[in-house]
Amino acid sequence: MRKSPKEILNNIFGFDSFLGLQDEVIDHVIAGDDALVLMPTGGGKSLCYQIPALYRDGVGLVISPLIALMRDQVESLNQLGVRASVLNSTLSRLEAKEVEQKLLKGSLDLVYVSPERLLAEAFLNHLSKCKLSLIAIDEAHCVSRWGHDFRPEYLKLNVLKNLFPNTPRLALTATADGPTRRDIIERLELKDGRLFVSSFDRPNIKYAIVSKDESKSKLLKFIEENHIGDSGIVYCISRSKVEATAEWLIKEGFNALPYHAGMDKNHRAANQDKFLKEENIIMVATIAFGMGIDKPDVRFVCHLDLPKNIESYYQETGRAGRDGLKSNAWLAYGLEDLSKIINFIVSSNASEDQKRIERQKLDALLGLCETTRCRRQVLLEYFGESLKDPCGNCDTCLEPAKSFDATVATQKALSCVYKTGERFGAVYIIDVLLGSDSARIIQFGHDKISTYGIGKEYSKNQWRSIFRQLVARNLLVVDMEGHGGYRLGENCKGVLRGEEKILLREDQFSKKADRSRDKKIKKPKVTLDNDADEALFQDLRAHRRALADEQKVPPFTIFHDSTLLEMAQKRPASTVEFGGLSGVGEAKLKRYAASFLKVISGEQPPCESS
Ligand code: ADP
Ligand code: ZN
Repeated sequence: MRKSPKEILNNIFGFDSFLGLQDEVIDHVIAGDDALVLMPTGGGKSLCYQIPALYRDGVGLVISPLIALMRDQVESLNQLGVRASVLNSTLSRLEAKEVEQKLLKGSLDLVYVSPERLLAEAFLNHLSKCKLSLIAIDEAHCVSRWGHDFRPEYLKLNVLKNLFPNTPRLALTATADGPTRRDIIERLELKDGRLFVSSFDRPNIKYAIVSKDESKSKLLKFIEENHIGDSGIVYCISRSKVEATAEWLIKEGFNALPYHAGMDKNHRAANQDKFLKEENIIMVATIAFGMGIDKPDVRFVCHLDLPKNIESYYQETGRAGRDGLKSNAWLAYGLEDLSKIINFIVSSNASEDQKRIERQKLDALLGLCETTRCRRQVLLEYFGESLKDPCGNCDTCLEPAKSFDATVATQKALSCVYKTGERFGAVYIIDVLLGSDSARIIQFGHDKISTYGIGKEYSKNQWRSIFRQLVARNLLVVDMEGHGGYRLGENCKGVLRGEEKILLREDQFSKKADRSRDKKIKKPKVTLDNDADEALFQDLRAHRRALADEQKVPPFTIFHDSTLLEMAQKRPASTVEFGGLSGVGEAKLKRYAASFLKVISGEQPPCESS
């Protein structure tokens, strides 16, 4: 008898219950319908197509642009006993032929294909003879020119709809802003599909943003206090800074590796491979690093320079803690970043409209940096979600920032936006507030309105800071599709009527750095409270490492840290108990229970693999 989706979840994947919208998406696809799934990184997108592919007849076709990610996903699936293969440019002709034969025979559950490979005419011909259970288009935002991951081949993926009119198609992404979403639906012809949007919150990630002075010593302190022995990523803006930072971290005694697009291809690939397979590497990188990094146990992501916008920040920090365990996102920002990014935007050859949008997105990011509110609330609001209470797991929740009463300033700003017709951006509105005699203001007659010149108590820079924060709070909304001016946000009525007090963060830039850095001796981080559990956890990791080395696969494809943590705490004493751990399905039970049980009972020293 066919296994139900729930049984597949329990028996093959070893998980007790579905997360979030997984079961709804799975039922929908199993019924044969199309869907667009928006979930954050780590939200559990893969099961949304893997389970229907196992349930339905035929092979599940997964299109992914990320070769490294495909390889790891397929390895993880093989570890679970699922018949999965990749088909991309890294395969030899002979290997590719073999996979194609399996496809035709129907002896695969899932095949991961790069878009280039898929679109080759010969392959499409071959594919048309195969039976597909579903088509999953991963990283679907690559179809949109809005994001920075645009892939022209994605535009051609709608051929699949014509070739397989009766096969359900599922597009998945963690990038969810409005224009991108519309592009996906339109270009992949998903109009009739259902939209599944889950919360973008990543509760296990703790956000912290500090000012940039003394950023190196702040970074060192942060890593020493929280992440000795962990895997992490440190993002820098330039190649030279990547090199210098990696060298410096190595001198400070860390296992750091550089990664940027200017490096020799082999060297870069070797560093990436090391990062994936080992457990305590700090990757110092430009944003060239990360697309397709599916490593679940990245414990921290730091930015030594400001990312381009909130989308990038969220995507980059989202690489931390995919496994759901506690992780940190840490950012240092300063004014110098700002001028660098603005120059970058201005000198790019994007259209003027596009530039304006980039500029506003940057302002929203600064609003996040300057907010006195819970960072998570600000982040989620930017993505159109709301979180009722402050999260308690970000720096501003844990150590409230200095703020000033900006109720009157906010009223002035909002009414000036309103009185000028809700179509101008910050520069213009600030000029009006400051009573500038620019020709444009006079031409529009805005020197005659009541808000002209009423904001002289603040400087231009202070006003900019206020505007950024108002945007971050959605009291002002940047019109992304029109000319990029501000509109009043829906929640502004209370402030305008004087019913709501507004506290804004004091300008950060003048603050002095905290110079005191305790010179601490590096001691390994402890994950579990109980010493004996911690020791066992480390033994289990060592055992997993030995098994992984033997098979030449990343350790996390064998078990995630979360499974090892549960193992160390629950100490299963029998195969049955072992099978009850989250992440242990039938195949892994058969393959690994015996040797891990021996490590738990102390019968086998951890480093000898079975
Ligand atoms: P995404 O592709 O959305 O980034 P993944 O599919 O990689 O996320 O899943 C993220 C993590 O959550 C993985 O470690 C995965 O094993 C785990 N996971 C997914 N679904 C479940 C579930 N139902 N129960 C427990 N863990 C799950
Ligand atoms: Zn918070």
